[in-house]
Amino acid sequence: MAQRLTVSDGVSKKTSRVRVAVRLRPYMSRQDEKDEGPCVRGLDSQNLEIINWRNATETVKYHFSIFYGEQTTQQEVFLSSVKPILPHILNGQNASVFAYGPTGAGKTHTMLGTAEQPGVIPRAVREVFNLVSAKDEDEGWDYSIGMSYLEIYNEKVLDLLSPNSQDLPIRENKDKNILIPGLTHTAISSFSDFDKHFIPATLNRTTASTKLNQRSSRSHAILLIKVVRTQRALPHRQQTGKLYLVDLAGSEDNRRTGNQGIRLKESGAINLSLFTLSKVVDALNSGTAARIPYRDSKLTRLLQDSLGGSAHSVMITNIAPEYRYYFDTFSALNFAAKSKLIVNKPFTRETVAVPVLPAPVKRSREEHEAVGSGA
Ligand code: ADP
Ligand code: MG
Repeated sequence: MAQRLTVSDGVSKKTSRVRVAVRLRPYMSRQDEKDEGPCVRGLDSQNLEIINWRNATETVKYHFSIFYGEQTTQQEVFLSSVKPILPHILNGQNASVFAYGPTGAGKTHTMLGTAEQPGVIPRAVREVFNLVSAKDEDEGWDYSIGMSYLEIYNEKVLDLLSPNSQDLPIRENKDKNILIPGLTHTAISSFSDFDKHFIPATLNRTTASTKLNQRSSRSHAILLIKVVRTQRALPHRQQTGKLYLVDLAGSEDNRRTGNQGIRLKESGAINLSLFTLSKVVDALNSGTAARIPYRDSKLTRLLQDSLGGSAHSVMITNIAPEYRYYFDTFSALNFAAKSKLIVNKPFTRETVAVPVLPAPVKRSREEHEAVGSGA
């Protein structure tokens, strides 16, 4: 086993980047006891600004490949960030979609959504069934779809389809596929079949209250949709494509939430996985790292064959506009940003209601005269 580990972990192979998008949820006054208004707002489809805490007459402007403003619908997020990668899993390739960000910023809304506003998970599962049923019989492949659902809690891998399961091991086979022996894998034949297994399992997710949040998500919830296709004729070639849909634990700084004891232990585990994930994404996107540190946490180890390499990955960083999220928003933005700029322009409230999408807003003179960088 051990010798094989020295073989390129994505070093000589071409690795694909992780697309990073940022989504700002609408301002909610019930989340803001002091009614201070938002401290962050969108500028156009790639830029947002946040007030600079060091100097309130300045804002810090961030640039992203995709920015979803508060008006962005679930459908728009799905169509632009997720739908395009789904055909690959019918061809034996892997993909992953993550929701990252502080608790309360919209990760579960983005991934799961509501009955009225379904999120990425129900839309993606429906689309996978649509893609499979649209496949031409004459191409000669049979398709089967299955699901697993697990969480990583305190660096333990727990099966959400088998409520009393113990910590499961993560293994790698000789083809460098990541496997979890003992994890429930259920064949699903339709979207309603999926829902029947998924809904009760969602309730198994571990949640606990912390000082900062009533129901803080302390674990990473990971839904795996596997598409296996088998050639009807000899030699019956078989290809497996995996899609991971991940609602990550909150990225808030747990040192500020007054966590102690078991909560503090959880905080350490959450921070380890998220910290490692950020290092992996950085290493993949800069293309400079000699070694991608997948093995440093359970989350990244599990996702090793579906993040980087030939996989298609999207990270949706969720942020909230209220002041109480300010420092968590900053750290989430710094995780997601390619560049930022300090702009010497006061953060005035009156432009807040301007729709963020779709037309890029013309830049003001002040912004062109922006000075400095790095907050
Ligand atoms: P998280 O999973 O990151 O803790 P949630 O998804 O639970 O956050 O979102 C917190 C609250 O904000 C929920 O009441 C949710 O319905 C609401 N919310 C989040 N994003 C949006 C959005 N884009 N539009 C409308 N409401 C949203
Ligand atoms: Mg949540």
